[in-house]
Amino acid sequence: MTDPQPRDLPGDAPTVVVSGGSRGIGRAIVELLAADGYLVHFLYLSRDDAAAEVVARVAAAGGRAVAHRCDVSDRAAVEATLEVLTAGPIYALVNNAATLRDGHLLLMDEERWDIVVDTVLTAAYRLARGCLRAMLHAGHGRIVNVGSLSGNQGLAGQTNYAAAKGGLAAFGRSLAREVGRYGITVNTVVPGWIDTDLLAALPETRRTKAVASVPLGRFGTPNEVAHVVRFLLSPAASYITGCAIRVDGGLGS
Ligand code: NDP
Repeated sequence: MTDPQPRDLPGDAPTVVVSGGSRGIGRAIVELLAADGYLVHFLYLSRDDAAAEVVARVAAAGGRAVAHRCDVSDRAAVEATLEVLTAGPIYALVNNAATLRDGHLLLMDEERWDIVVDTVLTAAYRLARGCLRAMLHAGHGRIVNVGSLSGNQGLAGQTNYAAAKGGLAAFGRSLAREVGRYGITVNTVVPGWIDTDLLAALPETRRTKAVASVPLGRFGTPNEVAHVVRFLLSPAASYITGCAIRVDGGLGS
């Protein structure tokens, strides 16, 4: 079956679900996809103000986005949100939400481990499982996971995050093999240093060192990641699955 195209279906836009859509990369993804004509449902943790701002900006630009306050690390919350979302068809899922609890392993208690693994990896499992049913029914679908270079290369102080992100990429490769025959693609976008709130939290010395390590000599922008997600949802990417695409200014090469 041919993938639906947003502009082909006036009044019946394909639905995309984006986790962590209220800020940073997720917000850029929401705004770009909504501008393309998709109906975008996005999930966020607690920043009602940021979520409302995204909805308003999308509406002002003539698009449609719906915000859902849902802690993706909480099984009951995800189940309740999925019940609402899966009442209709879902074309694509973007697993983007993440959180950091950095620290060396000997100082990392289970709470720090669990929150990161639950937010990144277990949430992707739960959301993909819920959305897949709708995609299987339609005979097409796209899943894009937002990974991290930390998951490829490892980073001291990020055993929890790197393990979750490495696991997310492996999850995507396996799922791609499972669902390809049903017309569903699964890919991972792997950002390097991208200028968001996540990065703003770093001390200035660490930011300077980080920029110096990037072959392109600068941090990436959220839009530069969002454009790759947009491509993976487009018909131009119909024969791409099980891939990881780095958006990192050459850092991981
Ligand atoms: P931000 O911290 O800027 O934004 C995080 C978003 O995720 C917010 O919308 C936040 O909601 C939401 N979120 C966090 N925890 C949860 C949760 N438990 N349930 C639901 N939503 C949640 O992150 P970035 O934009 O920088 O990162 C986006 C993705 O890109 C992440 O997967 C990250 O790992 C990845 N990445 C980022 C890099 C970077 O340099 N920025 C580098 C490599 C990968 P709220 O606004 O309510 O807090």
